[in-house]
Amino acid sequence: MKGFDFLKEELKEMKKAGTFRELVSIESEQGSKVIINGRTLIQLSSNNYLGLTSHPRLKEASIKAVEEYGAGTGSVRTIAGTFSMHAELEKKLAEFKHTEAALVFQSGFTTNQGVLSAILTEKDVVISDELNHASIIDGIRLTKAARKVYQHVDMKDLERALQESSQYRKRVIVTDGVFSMDGNIAPLPEIVQLAEKYDAIVMVDDAHASGVLGENGRGTVNHFKLDGRVHIQVGTLSKAVGVLGGYIASSRTLIDYLIHKGRPFLFSTSHPPAVTAACSAAIDVLMNEPELIETLWENTVFFKDGLRKLGFQTGLSETPITPVIIGDEALTHQFSDLLMKEGVFAQGIAFPTVAKGKARVRTIVTAQHSKEELTEALRIFQRVGKQLNIIS
Ligand SMILES: *Cc1c(COP(=O)(O)O)cnc(C)c1O
Repeated sequence: MKGFDFLKEELKEMKKAGTFRELVSIESEQGSKVIINGRTLIQLSSNNYLGLTSHPRLKEASIKAVEEYGAGTGSVRTIAGTFSMHAELEKKLAEFKHTEAALVFQSGFTTNQGVLSAILTEKDVVISDELNHASIIDGIRLTKAARKVYQHVDMKDLERALQESSQYRKRVIVTDGVFSMDGNIAPLPEIVQLAEKYDAIVMVDDAHASGVLGENGRGTVNHFKLDGRVHIQVGTLSKAVGVLGGYIASSRTLIDYLIHKGRPFLFSTSHPPAVTAACSAAIDVLMNEPELIETLWENTVFFKDGLRKLGFQTGLSETPITPVIIGDEALTHQFSDLLMKEGVFAQGIAFPTVAKGKARVRTIVTAQHSKEELTEALRIFQRVGKQLNIIS
């Protein structure tokens, strides 16, 4: 079809630079190993931290929900699409997060968009870490609030931004709990202290911390024992929880407000029964099988130490997200392609997901990986790393 010539030039440039990527199709269920192009590879690119995407309790709950309640809900939540299971999941999430209430959105992405765009007006200011997730950045773009960006986890710079914004009705500090491309944890105790000093609201996006950090995977707020001191916790049901969705855990007042003002909540159809039932089963698994999180952390330490001993640059990582930072975009994709040839699926990540010159292969181990699989993966990283002169 004609009419898209204006996009062709940029695609051509990407192809020339080696940054144009085909989508990789997986031909099996998600797991420590996956089948791609008929070959079995060690999976190090998923967010399936605990292996819940294919946990028997989640599958069973989904199947039962389809049989009893059907494939879809037929409406948005606010008209005719709230089933009792939606309300039950929200009650469970609020208990899990130790908050008054919780509200589920279609995804973590729409949660950030919905929350930020609902609560911020031109009278307010939002103060955001420079490496926050795209969904936070887009959420901020949807508001008329003033914006300030502070240097990554730099508390002096955050305090400067707070001092410079006393004229606004409300100051809202927003940060990822765990930064998705570097795997470092936000300095939440210091952020909360500053927020209390300057009477600001704190919003933390725990997409990569839910199911990973804190007691039973409650997230960074619980990890730092800050329960009750962080105003807004965003979580995702799409990563460690293994299904799909996002939620906010906060005060009853804010939840009531979002039910009336959260645009993705108001204008997009609610989760199908299979999704909601599986999410609910996942929270039960987090409560009943804490050994999954222990195994995740054992594997994390083993694999991260292994990469560092081989001489790879893993940056600031302190969680299961371990980037192997390469810098050059084309070399990063070449590294990823060779890893795949040798039996490891670890995707290269480049601009615009990370800054120019900071391209990386990002790895995430899961609780499902065996020591043998991780040892084999390290051997392959070593072989390919040497071949491309990334390590000596
Ligand atoms: C992945 C991610 C999201 C989006 O979550 P989805 O449920 O996949 O839409 C939001 N915030 C952060 C920090 C993330 O890493």
